[in-house]
Amino acid sequence: CGIVGYSGTQSAAPILLNGLKRLEYRGYDSAGLALVSPEGIRVEKCEGKVVNLVNQLGEFDKIPSLGGATAGIAHTRWATHGPPTTVNAHPHAARPAGEEGNRVTLVHNGIIENYKALKARLEADGRVFVSETDTEVLAHLVDSFYEGDLVKAVTTALNQVEGTFGIACVAIDEPGVLVVARRGSPIVIGLGEDETLVASDAAAILRYTRQVIYLDDNDVARIEGPKVDICSLDAMPVTRESTQIDWSD
Ligand code: GLU
Repeated sequence: CGIVGYSGTQSAAPILLNGLKRLEYRGYDSAGLALVSPEGIRVEKCEGKVVNLVNQLGEFDKIPSLGGATAGIAHTRWATHGPPTTVNAHPHAARPAGEEGNRVTLVHNGIIENYKALKARLEADGRVFVSETDTEVLAHLVDSFYEGDLVKAVTTALNQVEGTFGIACVAIDEPGVLVVARRGSPIVIGLGEDETLVASDAAAILRYTRQVIYLDDNDVARIEGPKVDICSLDAMPVTRESTQIDWSD
């Protein structure tokens, strides 16, 4: 339902939580975020309101691995596949069979129509699923192609997907990098001086910047701090002009 992402120099958690609050008016049933630091990817999620997530994080600025995270992704979910539980809330993380931890982690708006066939294939490879969502299948699909280049893994995975998506994705080996993509579900990129924000709705990021790029269907963007590179799903570079948002916050 709602997506927010950040890559820059500030602590990501307060910016992500503020963005989620701005998207509350759209309705949702659960919320979560993933914070990326050189120590790893920390995922926190909960049922119900964003305030529950804030309470759950508590004194996050006192924990170096959270306060020190200058990149992250966040989501408010409106359940389509699997009930609105904490386990089914986004972000969803994936790792190869037999391994532990969060390697590729993503949030997703939309519906992966062919998730059952993809899930059967990934389970046959020994991958273990913990949720009932179509989104966790997408996380494992991207992870199955991940060899240190998140854009390549996302592009390869999305070429096998039927359905709609707006996604924001992070990976353990590329701590400051966000990869976002869309087909049938909006993604806007907000350009800052030494940072970049992403969202499914510009209302989430207007407080930080008014200079934005709207992705087109089948665009994939790699974001790292202020750097934004956009390509198509067939890996051709594309140029998208930025526009200034004039409407008030
Ligand atoms: N289909 C996904 C799910 O049920 C995404 C829902 C959404 O757009 O919030 O988890």
